[in-house]
Amino acid sequence: MTFFERFAQVCNTIENIKGSLEITSVVAGFFREVSDEELPIVTRFIMGHIFPVWSNKESGIGPNILYSAISRTSSLPLKRIEKLVKETGDIGIASEKAIRSGKTHLSFFEGEEKLSITEVYSRFEKISGLEGKGSQDTKIKNLQYLFSSAKPEEITFLSRLSIEELRIGVGEGIVRNAIAEAFDVSRELVERGVLLTNDMGLVAVTAKKEGQTGLEKLGVVINRPLKMMLAQIGPGINETVKEMGQVAVEWKFDGARVQIHKEGNEVKIFSRKLEDVTLSLPDLVGSVMSKVSAASTILDGEAVAIGKDKRPMAFQEILRRFRRKYDISATSIDIPLHLNLFDILYLDGESLIDLPLFERRKKLEEACDRSILADQTLTNDPLIVEKVYKEALTAGHEGVMLKNPGSLYSPGKRGKNWLKLKPIMETLDLVVVGGEWGEGRRTRTIGSYLLACRDPDTDKLLPIGRVATGINDEQLQEMTNLFKDLIISENSNHLEFEPKIIFEVAFEEIQKSTNYGSGYALRFPRLVNMRSDKSLEDSDSIERVEQLYIGQK
Ligand code: AMP
Repeated sequence: MTFFERFAQVCNTIENIKGSLEITSVVAGFFREVSDEELPIVTRFIMGHIFPVWSNKESGIGPNILYSAISRTSSLPLKRIEKLVKETGDIGIASEKAIRSGKTHLSFFEGEEKLSITEVYSRFEKISGLEGKGSQDTKIKNLQYLFSSAKPEEITFLSRLSIEELRIGVGEGIVRNAIAEAFDVSRELVERGVLLTNDMGLVAVTAKKEGQTGLEKLGVVINRPLKMMLAQIGPGINETVKEMGQVAVEWKFDGARVQIHKEGNEVKIFSRKLEDVTLSLPDLVGSVMSKVSAASTILDGEAVAIGKDKRPMAFQEILRRFRRKYDISATSIDIPLHLNLFDILYLDGESLIDLPLFERRKKLEEACDRSILADQTLTNDPLIVEKVYKEALTAGHEGVMLKNPGSLYSPGKRGKNWLKLKPIMETLDLVVVGGEWGEGRRTRTIGSYLLACRDPDTDKLLPIGRVATGINDEQLQEMTNLFKDLIISENSNHLEFEPKIIFEVAFEEIQKSTNYGSGYALRFPRLVNMRSDKSLEDSDSIERVEQLYIGQK
């Protein structure tokens, strides 16, 4: 059995080293140390995740619940906790300080057993299942139990983990390499396993118990979402047709991505972030049941909401449907969703991802009714592509996707085999890491947001500019309410947020700048959309910023 104390020690060691190779070795050593049962849990904990991404479980703990639990454990008033967070700028350190200086902690649990990693996990699982009246208080009590059972030196990491913000710089890349190092298997196989199963814990346990051969056998699994294939920006119709020869042209629908798993009478729908959104979308489940004849299959497509004017409704409206937990039938009447399926990844026990697109398309057409399929045109004539492109724009969609008919389905990859073509200027998906309170009449609202791009090598977020939302008072207030719960620290009117929300931002130009950590700044940035369908790892990287910068010259 491994104690949480050991996990905290490992985190502490990692925090004090800089090079990612050294960090990888420490993580690998830790993976070797723990039991088979603990391994899946620690692969997630070390990245600051409590549950697998594909499960629809969330920790359900935000800064407010955390502050209350710390306040109760330490017997210090809430205000004092908030002040400590402001002073230290770190919720973990503030929690540890509070508990060390509080009255109750040490004497409280003398002689109690030490907290184990599995016990911490089970407690978080219990908290995540709590809903409804009184659940807030029960969550606080459960968290308080954990803090009271922990030693002071465990508190920093327990506190950060509870809000899934471990901040020790360990991301998916390091964990993948650490699995390879710990169990002496190839990195490529580990990466393949993760893309296919989207379950780092399963990959780690397979590597440990069955080595390379076990990893080779990992494949597409029904009811376990796999990462979605992504698109690149195409160079233009003529160039693309010249390069690909024949192209498969489809509308680029203005909607939200869905991956659908059907097994007998069971349907599961996963969002682009691979979250299970089935319960919010009963109408889509209904269409799948009535229009998909295959017994067991995984389908990929775009869900579109068509308004009364027959045009696609705003993207935010669709996301409202995805998030909805109550009054689902009323919203499904207001915002009816329609499926446009464009791919099939699995059929009756067999993975199809290694078949070329044109063969997958045949299987897709056999498995589903035409009414839920995206039309596809195979052509080598740029004029025909142009025609489809204009039709898509006239119908209110974004443009077209040009796909290589001979290409395989590459989970999680943004490659040259799917090219998107759309008229609007490129945007960046940036993580909101900070903000500022407004001035004058708007002192109670957050007036501007600090944005950052990702450095995939170090998992650091590099600031690149600020965007003022400049919308009406009501929307400003709505956004303020959303971000208020994510405040980690506050210094005069500067705020630091948990990096959870992605803004899609348009801009006039990218400039070199010493004002921001990324070395770049955006000229005239403008908020296009809040992308609650995207997760941190979907945000744009510093490489993409560099490419756009070079491209605009
Ligand atoms: P983007 O988000 O701009 O990188 O564009 C890729 C997204 O376009 C995919 O993730 C889908 O959600 C969406 N999309 C719409 N229509 C299609 C299509 N026919 N094929 C693939 N993706 C599509």
